[in-house]
Amino acid sequence: MTQITAERIQELIEKSRLVDAAPLQEAFDKIREKHSGNLPSDPVAVCKELEDLGLVTRWQSEKILQGKYKGFFLGRHKLLGHLGSGGMSSVYLAEHLGMKHKRAIKVLPKSKLGNNSYLERFQREAKAIASLNHPNIVRAYDIDNEKDTHYLVMEYVEGADMQTLVRKHGPLPYAVAAHYIAQAARGLQHAHDAGLIHRDVKPANLLVDKRGMVKVLDLGLALFAEDTDASLTMEYNDKVLGTADYLAPEQAINSHKVDHRADMYSLGCTLYFLLTGHPPFPEGSIASRIIKHQNNTPEDIRKDRPDIPGELEGVCVKMMQKDPKFRYASCDQVAQVLEAWLEKYKKEVKETASILANFSVADVLNDKLKSNRDLDTVSNRNEGTMGGKSSAIVKLSTSDSGVLRAIAKSDGSSIDSQIDLMHDTSAPNPSKSKSQAIARAQSPLEGGSKAGGSGSPLVKPMAGRPAGSVGGKSNLGSSAGGRPGSGTTAKPTAGGKAPGPSSTNASKQSGARQNAGSAPMSQASKSERPGNSSQSKRANLWILLGVAGVVAVLFGLIVAILMLRS
Ligand code: ADP
Ligand code: MG
Repeated sequence: MTQITAERIQELIEKSRLVDAAPLQEAFDKIREKHSGNLPSDPVAVCKELEDLGLVTRWQSEKILQGKYKGFFLGRHKLLGHLGSGGMSSVYLAEHLGMKHKRAIKVLPKSKLGNNSYLERFQREAKAIASLNHPNIVRAYDIDNEKDTHYLVMEYVEGADMQTLVRKHGPLPYAVAAHYIAQAARGLQHAHDAGLIHRDVKPANLLVDKRGMVKVLDLGLALFAEDTDASLTMEYNDKVLGTADYLAPEQAINSHKVDHRADMYSLGCTLYFLLTGHPPFPEGSIASRIIKHQNNTPEDIRKDRPDIPGELEGVCVKMMQKDPKFRYASCDQVAQVLEAWLEKYKKEVKETASILANFSVADVLNDKLKSNRDLDTVSNRNEGTMGGKSSAIVKLSTSDSGVLRAIAKSDGSSIDSQIDLMHDTSAPNPSKSKSQAIARAQSPLEGGSKAGGSGSPLVKPMAGRPAGSVGGKSNLGSSAGGRPGSGTTAKPTAGGKAPGPSSTNASKQSGARQNAGSAPMSQASKSERPGNSSQSKRANLWILLGVAGVVAVLFGLIVAILMLRS
């Protein structure tokens, strides 16, 4: 597996400065003694011994085994393990050399430096977090660079992000999900009050600590309300839109013009994910999922989770209204509604909220949190982001304020058929085209099965789910001072009146409202055309086969007649 010899390990660790020469020599003497005077021939076994002695972490020894010995230190911090990677960066667990406290350090890869916008985004993120101070928002302490390695030192949140949580545990108990979302809403409200819109709210950007406390992170796409220089904002924001599965319809159309309600939409999609284990529109290419956010109504949550009270589904549906004016007025209002509803579930929340994210530093050091995190933050640049050069990304490449609007207005089906066409030409098997591969990698269904979570509800197949109805008549308004359950009128949310369906019918009506609010109904049906067009392709194929069959029979007959005659 590796060319590094057991002897070379000592040399590399000494060079890395991870362990001082004297204790390192002592450790190697001990290991030799244990193995009758010789080092084990397997270098991995040597590293394992060093890990057991507490001299290196799993992550560090993996790097050493790859022959790497540089880059374990950033300023006054020693890197201990990998916490996660998102669209732009890698985040590491680190220890302060003097104080020994743990920090999370976000590092901008050197490869991203060539492109100025990444560094600008990085600095923007630091500026954004520095301007905030709230228990539900991750704190930042410092931004610095060591030559061309730029990094941001943050509070380390000992726990896990919500994407990881759901991958590990499956969909969450509904009261716990509501409790987490209420906290995230409080954190977001603080950002909104400070004139910031997050614009990339999603499960991977919400951390839950060991006590069940939620922290919003990753403000790299934050929009500053005071940004009056539109061209500057455009320049920043032209690079990245957000993440396809959680992107508010209005954000896909013009990401510079969004307000706090775009974050609320994404938070609603996150609630949907926590409850079902998949985003509202889990299927299709990135572009088609974005179009679905514009036009389609997601499956009822209670198809997946019949146990969920109608009130909670109603809140989620209201947060995810296509037209921002039908959502709640503010994230504070979302938090109030959820907190009032949670009054009756206090016990459940207390018992479970903190157990779920019970991952410790030791788990990080042993790589227990390792995951394929979602990589499809949508870029409207040709290069895409870490998600790679998917056809879909390329298709959305010119400008985030123009392309999607044009596509949505002209013909919902054309975008998909164009992308399918690109799949056809770029990949031998259309179903294995890159953008779809990305979509699948992103899907929690796949993540769940990859994680081997047998019995996890995440592994449940999505296709062919029964179209059973979900009933449940409840009215959250009664406890929250709003009236989300009426489901018949689409009133704006002012004054705490909260229209939100409490039954299947209601949510269907809300779907109709959503379409009416953001796009004509005809367009909603157009967005379904890709399916229809593939059906018609199949029909054409059958016709062709039929014609070929008839021709073959006729040919056979003619040959037979000719033979008989001769
Ligand atoms: P990106 O901008 O690349 O998306 P994020 O800031 O979202 O980076 O971080 C990527 C992942 O790293 C998160 O999903 C989370 O799992 C982990 N992470 C980030 N910050 C912290 C932190 N302060 N404490 C613990 N884990 C963190
Ligand atoms: Mg992120």
